[in-house]
Amino acid sequence: MEKTHIDRRVEQMKAEGVVFRTGVMIGAAKDPLGKGSKVTNLAKETITPEQLQKDFDAVLLTGGAEQSRDLPVPGRDLDGIHFAMEFLPQQNRVNAGDKVKGQLRADGKHVIVIGGGDTGSDCVGTSNRHGAVSVTQFELMPQPPEEENRPMTWPYWPVKLRTSSSHEEGCEREFAISTKEFIGEKGKVTGLKTVRVEWKDGKMQEVAGSEQVLKADLVLLAMGFISPVATVLDAFGVEKDARGNAKASVDFIGGYVTNVPKVFAAGDIRRGQSLVVWAIREGRQAARSVDEFLMGFSDLPR
Ligand SMILES: Cc1cc2nc3c(=O)[nH]c(=O)nc-3n(C[C@H](O)[C@H](O)[C@H](O)COP(=O)(O)OP(=O)(O)OC[C@H]3O[C@@H](n4cnc5c(N)ncnc54)[C@H](O)[C@@H]3O)c2cc1C
Repeated sequence: MEKTHIDRRVEQMKAEGVVFRTGVMIGAAKDPLGKGSKVTNLAKETITPEQLQKDFDAVLLTGGAEQSRDLPVPGRDLDGIHFAMEFLPQQNRVNAGDKVKGQLRADGKHVIVIGGGDTGSDCVGTSNRHGAVSVTQFELMPQPPEEENRPMTWPYWPVKLRTSSSHEEGCEREFAISTKEFIGEKGKVTGLKTVRVEWKDGKMQEVAGSEQVLKADLVLLAMGFISPVATVLDAFGVEKDARGNAKASVDFIGGYVTNVPKVFAAGDIRRGQSLVVWAIREGRQAARSVDEFLMGFSDLPR
C-alpha cells in the first residue's frame, strides 16, 4: 500500500486531536528490550509503564510481535548475519527520504536469505534492487507443487508453490535445506555449511552425504517471529498466553483487557505475528472496548 494513504490518515487523526510521539520507547528504564536483544531500538527517550499509567486513564499496547526466530548454530556471531528486520526497515526509511548512516546494503554481495515466507521474499526483492551479485533463498520444507491438490480434504491442507514478484526479479530457491554452520574469515561470514533434509512421518532427517558449502557475504534470517518482545510485557506485568503473546480475550464485553488495570492489548502483540487486516480489526474493536471502559458505554461500531 502506498505510504501516502497512511500520511493522509495521520494528518486526519492529528486534526482530530491525536498526539503522535515518535522516538519514544515504552519499557523498563534499564534495558527496555533485555540484554543482547537484536530488536532495533531507535528511540531517544524511554518512558516507564508506571509513568504512563500515572499520566493516562487507559493504555492500549500495540507493540507488534517483533521477536525474530534466531538460528543459533556455530558461527552465528560472525559479521554479515542479520535478522530481516535489521535490514528491511532501513530501506523503508531511505525510501521515505531519511538518511540512514551505515545502511546495511546488499550491493555486490552474495546474499542468502534463510526462510521461505513473505518476509524472506521482501529480503529477496530488496537485495536485488540494491544490486546483489546473487540472491538465494532457503526453505526447510520440501518444494510444494506448482498446482494445489484440489481433491485433498480436511485435515490436510492443499499447499501450492507461491512465487512473488520479488522472486520473479531473480532468485535461486532452495527447498528442503538446513544450515548447520556459518563459516567465516577474520570475523566476517563467507559461507554456509548446509545439508539436505527429508521429512518422514512428520520428522526431519538429514540426508547422509549431502553436505555442501555455499558462498555468502550477507545472510538474512527470515524464519518468522516467535512472540512480542517479552521485556515490554514483563515491565507492565501483563500476563502472557502459552505462545508468549499478551493474554486478552476478544469478547464483546471486556475484550482486549489484560490482567493489569487500565491496560489493554491488541494486534500482533495479542494474537502473534499476523496480517494488517487483523491489526486494523483489532485496533477498532479495542478502541470500542477502551471507550466503553472510560465512558461506561460506547457508540463505536464493532
Ligand atoms: C517483513 C514483514 C512483511 C510483512 N508483510 C505483510 C503483508 O504483505 N501483508 C500483511 O497483511 N501483513 C504483512 N506483515 C504483517 C504485518 O506487518 C503485521 O501483522 C501488522 O503490522 C501488525 O500490526 P500491529 O499494529 O499489531 O504491530 P506493528 O505494525 O508491528 O507495530 C508495532 C509498533 O510498535 C512499536 N513498538 C514496539 N515496541 C514498542 C515499545 N516498547 N515502545 C514503543 N513502541 C514500540 C514498533 O516500533 C512498531 O512501530 C508483514 C510483517 C513483516 C515483519
